Amino acid sequence: MKNTAKKLVRRCPRLGNTVPFHYCKICGDQQQPCFKILDCWWEHFDVVRYLKDHLPEDQFHQLMEAQPKPKVNSLVELIELAKKRTD
Ligand code: SF4
Repeated sequence: MKNTAKKLVRRCPRLGNTVPFHYCKICGDQQQPCFKILDCWWEHFDVVRYLKDHLPEDQFHQLMEAQPKPKVNSLVELIELAKKRTD
């Protein structure tokens, strides 16, 4: 996988041009992975496994927690919040 990951490239939805996976691993704040790395690479290979194997544990968990919640969860939370305000 190490050699395969080095060769992976895709079109970046933020930059609009092709970037290598290596770039995505270091282009976030303080040279950490981009916050969209899971979203962008899950269809290409097991990026979760790769990052779990290669990142320090705290950094991996930080990245996982930074993922946006599915829209349905957000809607349910907004409805609950609205209900509480009317009570
Ligand atoms: S992970 Fe970030 S830098 Fe890499 S392709 Fe996706 S948006 Fe672009």
